[in-house]
Amino acid sequence: MQDGLPGCPDCSAAAAPGNSVPGTGGVNLVQDKWKNPTGGKVRGCDTEYGCGNYGASRGSRKHDGSDYESVPGQEIVSPVNGEIIRGSNPYKNDPSYNGVFIRSAEGKSVWVWYLSPDKGIIGSKVQEGDRIGTAQDLTTKYPAKNGNPAITNHIHVRIKDGKTSLNPENLIP
Ligand SMILES: [Zn+2]
Repeated sequence: MQDGLPGCPDCSAAAAPGNSVPGTGGVNLVQDKWKNPTGGKVRGCDTEYGCGNYGASRGSRKHDGSDYESVPGQEIVSPVNGEIIRGSNPYKNDPSYNGVFIRSAEGKSVWVWYLSPDKGIIGSKVQEGDRIGTAQDLTTKYPAKNGNPAITNHIHVRIKDGKTSLNPENLIP
C-alpha cells in the first residue's frame, strides 16, 4: 500500500533499527484525548457530498470515520502517539489522493486520509501533534455541482480497536 510513496519498499527495514516496542520508554500508552490533525471542526453537511460526522449516511453504507476541516497545503499533525506503519490511499483507482496508516502506542489502528505524507515519515515514530504531511485539495475530485458548492476540504480519520470501529469524535477534541 505504498502506491503514493515511491521508494517505500524499504520502509519496514528502515523502521527496524532501534524499533523498541511502542509503549516502552515513556511513550504514553493510554491516551484519553487525541490531537486534532487539522485544528478544524468536524465537517458539516455538503449538499452534494454528504456530512462529515461519524456514521453519516453514504447511501447503503455509513461514514466510517470523521472529517476534520482543512485548508489545502496546511500542516497536518498526528492525532496520536504511535508509529506510521505505511502509506494508505483512500481510492484503489486514484493514486492522487494519499494518507497514512498509524498504529497507536496503545494498539489502535488509525487511518488519516487526504494528506501528502512528508518524505521519510513512513516507518517513523510519532507523538501526537508531530507534523506528518500537508492537506490535499479534494475539490478537484468533488467539485461544485448543480449550483452547489464543492466539498468542504477535510482530513478523514478512521479508528479501529481490533475489529471495532470507533467514533473519532469521542477521542479527538
Ligand atoms: Zn470522511
